[in-house]
Amino acid sequence: KKIIIAIDGFSSTGKSTLAKQLAKQLGYVYVDTGAMYRAVAFFAMQHHYVSEDHLDKNKLVDSLPDLHLHFEFNPELGFAEMFLNGKNVETEIRTLEVSRLVSKVAEISEVRSKLVEQQQQMGKHKAIVMDGRDIGTVVFPNAELKIFMTASPETRAQRRYDELVEKGQRVTFQDVLQNVNERDYIDTHREDSPLVKASDAIEVDNSVLTKKEQFQLVLNLVND
Ligand code: C5P
Repeated sequence: KKIIIAIDGFSSTGKSTLAKQLAKQLGYVYVDTGAMYRAVAFFAMQHHYVSEDHLDKNKLVDSLPDLHLHFEFNPELGFAEMFLNGKNVETEIRTLEVSRLVSKVAEISEVRSKLVEQQQQMGKHKAIVMDGRDIGTVVFPNAELKIFMTASPETRAQRRYDELVEKGQRVTFQDVLQNVNERDYIDTHREDSPLVKASDAIEVDNSVLTKKEQFQLVLNLVND
């Protein structure tokens, strides 16, 4: 039986859509690790530790003991929402502003080790589907199934753009595409846990498959 399913890949490759579908189908818990990094970025923004042109790494690292993250399942939505120090920040962490700053914060080793430890705890007692950048390589190198999702930058930017517009945010396609490319660059070039495909991960290219085909493909892998 597959207990831990790790889904990694570049931003906006449809990881969370797939992970949520799988979790629902299998009765597993879905964990969105990007939400955790986003919540840390939002916390750092609120305290002015990070902005477009500066990052006060030491202050952020010193305040990490005061940063508490937890997920709470929302039955209406069918997935868990992110809480930062007891407050639901699900809306606040999905802005383009947070997307612009999150990769800078995610480069910090102390941030990564804190979140990785919490993520590993979540997989101790439950069957989970976890998505992120380093799940199959760092968080759960022994995961029973590892998926690595890819898609062209344009496909991904279009997806993210549609999502943001649907939420009523004012953005241009160019800004979103630039953000997708910037995050790819930082995520693949950072020193600590850069984004790479785990050697035993199965690559799924999402620009050539429909959502349904992709879901079926992965479901077959789970049942193998
Ligand atoms: O998945 P999402 O796009 O919401 O993730 C936001 C950012 O958080 C990524 O661009 C990446 O910089 C960081 N991240 C990470 N490791 C993870 C999940 C996300 O570094 N496991």
